Amino acid sequence: MQDNNIIKFLDLSDIIATEIISTEDRYIFIAEAKKNHIVCPRCGNITNKIYDTKWQNIRNIPIRGKLVIIILLKKRYRCPYCHKRGIPEKYESIDKYARKTKCFDKYLAKETVSKNYSKVARENGLSYTAVNNAVKKVIDPLIEQQLSKLS
Ligand SMILES: [Zn+2]
Repeated sequence: MQDNNIIKFLDLSDIIATEIISTEDRYIFIAEAKKNHIVCPRCGNITNKIYDTKWQNIRNIPIRGKLVIIILLKKRYRCPYCHKRGIPEKYESIDKYARKTKCFDKYLAKETVSKNYSKVARENGLSYTAVNNAVKKVIDPLIEQQLSKLS
């Protein structure tokens, strides 16, 4: 598959896929952030100096009925100006510490409208707790919003 098509296939604004592996039941994307630099939170300078990296598995919305796993190369930067180290990347599409993309949480919450949590968990290869957490994460802010309008 052409590089450009792989990117479109993943459909995340800030993550770029470099490789795709298709198995019987899943698509595995090897990916990293599109941005190759960050703004130092301490001194405000821009840096592209890598401090360290690690791989993390992130789940995303199924494609054509297959599970989607993003193997993301997470980078931490160091700042050559103020010498701050271990500055993590920030992502638009993934919350800090999350193992699922934001849109996958939304997808799961939507799925629970017509199916019970156990079924959604089974269909997506997730635990009941993971589905429950996704629903909470998506629905709770909406409820808060409604309540603040009432008061
Ligand atoms: Zn700095």
